[in-house]
Amino acid sequence: MNTIALMYHGIFSAHHSVSNMPAEDLPYAISESTFAEHLSLLNGKPVQLTFDDGDAGWYYSALPLLKEFQRKAIFFVTPELIGTPGYCDWEQLRALVLAGHQVGTHGLTHRFLPDLTEQQCVDELAISKSILEDRLGVKVTTLSFPGGRFGRREVQLAKRAGYQFCFTSEPGRLKTFDIDMLGHDEPNQALIIEPRIAVRADTGNDWLAGLIEGRTTLWGRIYVVHWIKLVLKKLLGNQGYHGLYRLLRS
Ligand SMILES: [Zn+2]
Repeated sequence: MNTIALMYHGIFSAHHSVSNMPAEDLPYAISESTFAEHLSLLNGKPVQLTFDDGDAGWYYSALPLLKEFQRKAIFFVTPELIGTPGYCDWEQLRALVLAGHQVGTHGLTHRFLPDLTEQQCVDELAISKSILEDRLGVKVTTLSFPGGRFGRREVQLAKRAGYQFCFTSEPGRLKTFDIDMLGHDEPNQALIIEPRIAVRADTGNDWLAGLIEGRTTLWGRIYVVHWIKLVLKKLLGNQGYHGLYRLLRS
């Protein structure tokens, strides 16, 4: 049983650049060689790998490296981004499925669910699920919230749409998640919300090792930073928070 889940985004390499990547996603993009180092460090460790958004680096870098290190991952896809510049197309996603990886949804359009009306939110959750199921021929029971934004309403709607597991961007250790539980019909299963730790461009190997070892000071720092971000988002709202984020990065 894995104890934590890591959240990756884009991976760049000689085959795939980050030139089409939105500026706000760049702090989360890592190189292929960094990803290989991470896999080497994580070898045999109880860590679930997850990926958000649909970057084409999943196909060019993650797919061969995961095979080399014999790991299975979950790829959270936003259907409206599929086949657009810099993102995986349907064939590339099918290759991930064929290799035994899991696919979950990451909204239909990547809009933040709490900003939408109830009907829009239902559509984001239900349509993305059915498109992925139809086009990839798999059962989709996992979801990761776009931008990590969710509340009680979004959880209720996800449950109604038939999801088993919702992954957030909130730090913590996994409760019950096991990748082998996915894809099976378990109609009475309660919806389970699972935390994830974001991997960033500046994530160092020592930090990653400390995370897995459970180094108290490192985990404490993660929780404090998360708490500060939560307070800022509450004070400024989603738009204001992103405005501040862009300002600080410019
Ligand atoms: Zn995303």
